[in-house]
Amino acid sequence: MAKLNLFEVAQEQLDQCAKIIGLDPDTHAILRVPLRELSVSLPIRMDDGSIKVFKGFRIQYNDARGPTKGGIRYHPDETIDTVRALASWMTWKCALLDLPLGGAKGGVICNPKEMSQAELERLSRAYIRAIYQFVGPDKDIPAPDVYTNPQIMAWMMDEYSKITGKNQFGVITGKPLSVGGSAGRGDATGLGGVVTIREAAKEYGIDLKKATVAVQGYGNAGYYAAKLAKSLLGCKVVAVSDSEGGIFSKEGLDGDAVSEHKAKTGSVINFPNTKAISNEDLLELKVDILIPAALENVITEKNASKINAKIVAELANGPTTPEADDILYKNGVHVIPDFLCNAGGVVASYFEMVQNFYMYFWDEKAIHERLDKKMTFAYHSVLNTSKKYNINMRQAAYVIAVERVVEAMKLRGWV
Ligand code: NAD
Repeated sequence: MAKLNLFEVAQEQLDQCAKIIGLDPDTHAILRVPLRELSVSLPIRMDDGSIKVFKGFRIQYNDARGPTKGGIRYHPDETIDTVRALASWMTWKCALLDLPLGGAKGGVICNPKEMSQAELERLSRAYIRAIYQFVGPDKDIPAPDVYTNPQIMAWMMDEYSKITGKNQFGVITGKPLSVGGSAGRGDATGLGGVVTIREAAKEYGIDLKKATVAVQGYGNAGYYAAKLAKSLLGCKVVAVSDSEGGIFSKEGLDGDAVSEHKAKTGSVINFPNTKAISNEDLLELKVDILIPAALENVITEKNASKINAKIVAELANGPTTPEADDILYKNGVHVIPDFLCNAGGVVASYFEMVQNFYMYFWDEKAIHERLDKKMTFAYHSVLNTSKKYNINMRQAAYVIAVERVVEAMKLRGWV
């Protein structure tokens, strides 16, 4: 089967929305493609003395509502179309959460697992040198995504500060605390997702204290979602996985112990007293809540009818294809769509930006309360819109977000 093109998926989702809201063809044409794309080649001196040329991208999809914002992904399978799709979803995400920001995304085709820390530092600094004229605290503000982390954000912020000749903490978010990072950023994506699950469970009468959870992808988003689903909601996490495979325990997993095991061995697999499970089988487990928190296109028309969960909380970007969406909707599975479910990260990133501008920092409690309020409000706006128009949650999220972006474009005289 040909690999699904993520950008075509994103465009099809937008096309569905355009039909629902009767979007005029000119505005639709503008919104179907990114406003700006930058492709760069990054020659890096490797530890063995050779030079390797990496390909990088930064795509600013739409900035009608403000400076663009979006993470940087390091991945061997990264493509420009994946970055385009992710940049479009950042645009809709920021609009849905009513943040004064547009959407962007960046990526470098590389395999960080095969690179030393020194090579990663040289690559991260080279990436910023290549794109620095296009980013900035009032232009475009990157953040972490798959296989990038606070240390990488610190190197990037430092490189940008050196080039511009002043400390510019606000150029990037997801930084470590001691260099302008925000309290509550680490677990923000997981927390935001858990807030939407809490609200969905109220709506669907699910007793969370008796609910079971499976999480695909045990990285930043998935680890915290599993941890907080247990500690805040009282759920039992029965399965988790990573790129190597998954583990299952009917009695429930100790998230921190699994995390320590992954830190030691490089994977969650072979955790004591658990059953091995494949990533495919994990998705089809009979659980109350399924959290895809790894990569895109994992729920497709092939396996959608085998999804047994009541709620699918999409912490990953783009885990469900449009065909699968239809099947899940028909089968009564409540999908909390990606750019709603995983918006906690960008909300906390926005708080980090605000604190960097102010040079004054809030405590974790303030961040969590503000994040909870924004996520709860956004969840119910999407739910009410889906009921009002009799459309699925993803289409409802698109309706709200696209209408906000279009309003800004009209007010600015773009259309
Ligand atoms: P991460 O790099 O911290 O973790 C990714 C995890 O997925 C790792 O455990 C990895 O082993 C696992 N993985 C990779 N390939 C896999 C596969 N084929 N099957 C199963 N697991 C696999 O990344 P992250 O930041 O947690 O991001 C995960 C997803 O969440 C991505 O789609 C990302 O775009 C989305 N997201 C993350 C944030 C954030 O703040 N971290 C915010 C919004 C959305």
